[in-house]
Amino acid sequence: MDKNDSFSKRAIHSSGVKKDPYGALSVPVYNAVAYEFDSAEAMEQAFSGKTGDFVYSRISNPTVQAYENKVKDLTGAFSVTALNSGMAAISNALMCVAYSGCNIITTRHLFGNTYSFFVSTLAAFGVEVRFCDLNDIKEVESKIDDDTCAVFLEIISNPQMDVVDLKKLSDIISKKNIPLIADTTIIPFSNFEANKFGVDIEVISSTKYLSGGATSVGGLIIDYGSFDWSKSKRLQSLEKEHGIGTFTFKLKREIHRNLGAYMTPQVAYMQNLALETLQLRYNKASETTDKIASALENMPAVKKVNYPGLTSNPYYKVSKSQFGENPGAMLTFDLESQEVCFNFLNNLQLIRRATNLFDNKTMALHPYTTIYGTYSKESKEQMHIYNTTIRLSVGLEDVADLLEDIMQALK
Ligand SMILES: *Cc1c(COP(=O)(O)O)cnc(C)c1O
Repeated sequence: MDKNDSFSKRAIHSSGVKKDPYGALSVPVYNAVAYEFDSAEAMEQAFSGKTGDFVYSRISNPTVQAYENKVKDLTGAFSVTALNSGMAAISNALMCVAYSGCNIITTRHLFGNTYSFFVSTLAAFGVEVRFCDLNDIKEVESKIDDDTCAVFLEIISNPQMDVVDLKKLSDIISKKNIPLIADTTIIPFSNFEANKFGVDIEVISSTKYLSGGATSVGGLIIDYGSFDWSKSKRLQSLEKEHGIGTFTFKLKREIHRNLGAYMTPQVAYMQNLALETLQLRYNKASETTDKIASALENMPAVKKVNYPGLTSNPYYKVSKSQFGENPGAMLTFDLESQEVCFNFLNNLQLIRRATNLFDNKTMALHPYTTIYGTYSKESKEQMHIYNTTIRLSVGLEDVADLLEDIMQALK
């Protein structure tokens, strides 16, 4: 398969593995834990990592590797590592670069568990988290020092829906030799080329679009090999030997093995298959979302719609330059009060009251009392989480059916 072939052609036809002995067209689920060797010498070679042979399925597995190889092919990345949740991808990636005494620059507009991982889990190991507005370059620069190990962000924050100008940010931080780690869950690589916008390490919750309709929990770390790791305090000693592969070496030879959250073959099978329909599903869901956003803007009960694909949105221009016309299948909107939000949710007939993103089914929830329910009032204020907001994750139903449900529920 050629790099210039279309996404769909590559997603459906590149295999990522050796020819199957039975000619099976989909990659089988290798439910094996251990792998046998013909000789002690071959075993020694495999354990040293020289042959790439499989040894033990916490470390690597043929079915999972087929999925990793396919994603590598589709993104043009240096390496891909599949883990068993989005949180595993985020925590493994940061554990590769962070060290006691370092700091990470990010924003308070983060997925709830990511925020908690930063301020509770990492903090206990001496990692400082510095929050700022990542569109305020002066503020970002003022937070950077010799111990800044990474800048971390979500390409569209959930549920605030703000968009960082990645080119502007990455220009500045790459000059200061700091890697950009981005959670790109909200726009899959079929429609957003992260590395072109300066992202060095991409982390994804593959539970969402990639799983093909909420089939499984998973995560991916995509390393573009674009960062000079001789500039990383944590990794510089490895850089001479491993060059652009330094981060991947640390991740694959140490961190992910020690943390033990590798993807399972059943999950890799489902998510690999789902790649074949990724772009099709994403395009349909994001087009529907754009139509719903426009319709909501014209409904009197709706006070505000947050979707960067709307021309009235303050991020419209930067969003369009990064993600194209329809930036994803999530939007939020504000109603009069928490009570009105609850009434809306309780009236829904077709749209599900559930928490997930990019399922095939459309879902709605009230972030303030659910995802952020255990956060203090002050924290929610700092994170700009309001009790008037509804979050909608749009699935694959027809737009007319969804609008009909929304309109009757608002009455
Ligand atoms: C869901 C989600 C995560 C966490 O992923 P899991 O697969 O649930 O661990 C992280 N970031 C974003 C943006 C998400 O939507």
